[in-house]
Amino acid sequence: MDFNTKLVHGDFEADPETGAILPPIHQVATYVLEEIGRDKGFDYSRATNPTREHLEKHLALIEGGRYAVAFASGMAAADAATKLLKAGDHIVVSDDVYGGVTRLFNQILTDFGLSFTFVDTSNPEAVSAAVTDTTKMLWVETPTNPLLKVTDLDAMTKIAKKHNLTFLVDSTFATPVYLQPLKEGADIVLHSTTKYLSGHNQLIGGALITNDKKIAERMQFVQKSVGAVPSPWDCWLTMLGIKTLHIRMEQHTENAKRVAVFLEAHEKVSKVNYPGTSGMISFELSGGISAATHVMNNLRVFRLAESLGAVESMVTHPATMTHASVPKEEREARGFKDGLIRLSVGIEAVEDLVDDLKAALKGV
Ligand code: PLP
Repeated sequence: MDFNTKLVHGDFEADPETGAILPPIHQVATYVLEEIGRDKGFDYSRATNPTREHLEKHLALIEGGRYAVAFASGMAAADAATKLLKAGDHIVVSDDVYGGVTRLFNQILTDFGLSFTFVDTSNPEAVSAAVTDTTKMLWVETPTNPLLKVTDLDAMTKIAKKHNLTFLVDSTFATPVYLQPLKEGADIVLHSTTKYLSGHNQLIGGALITNDKKIAERMQFVQKSVGAVPSPWDCWLTMLGIKTLHIRMEQHTENAKRVAVFLEAHEKVSKVNYPGTSGMISFELSGGISAATHVMNNLRVFRLAESLGAVESMVTHPATMTHASVPKEEREARGFKDGLIRLSVGIEAVEDLVDDLKAALKGV
């Protein structure tokens, strides 16, 4: 089956009871047992839920994985993945990850005996050099947030195999339309389904996808034991979003290319980061933070908001919004300045987006 067909249909043909073309929403907490010890495969919705199962099968299918485990947010998924580790273990992480991941690692998990080294994973030698005797996991985000650096997954797979590391890829920005990390050798794919997968700013969600039965079983155990589960309604809305992922990504990318070309040519823009796929762009102005503030406060079609990957275009100031919890010195060491602006280019008419930027830049 072609990838686009998998996106549209997932694992679902028709509801066996009614013929409904979409799975029903099982908005329910518990299930009636037929007798002691005999249920119909579901006993309590924190552990299992039919609507969540449909979403999990859909996610596994589109990432080319055997198992998917859905969570209440991308951060809940990230936290669950670290529960494969034990006190004393060390993790090598992309330096330019989402600020919430840095916060979870540095301000919570270090208290539980885990240690982290943040490196530029677009440089395989730096990754090899960061591996120690206690390293158990390699955590890569690609493209990174907000500098949009790209990591060579083939090189990372070789390092992970050599040192017997669990290799996780946060593929939120790329989506399975552009990258399927399990096929490149990753052990686990992480998604904030809040973003492109659901695609309409309508929910918060996350997922882990894997081909490894042991990892899947551990993640299912964490899912039911910790209980950071998505609601059936959110699962259903995520499935609805996934059905149009391919056409949305095409339009996001086409619009972002036009916006990137416009910014590159603009005299007040000093640097543009755009990896050529998806709608994510970050850029700097020669006028620094004051010029950037003016632009962000004066955009009208781009909404000043903390998220990405939705049909609505959004502008974010990483230093005070998504990455505020990363200390300024760390941000600067990554090469990420206070004046950096991040755009999530939506699927509106691109002329309106370019005109919006033109007008905001005019006042600088
Ligand atoms: N991973 C990436 C790359 C993100 O951008 C985000 C959120 O912005 C997350 C994980 C966390 O996801 P959530 O906000 O759904 O918890």
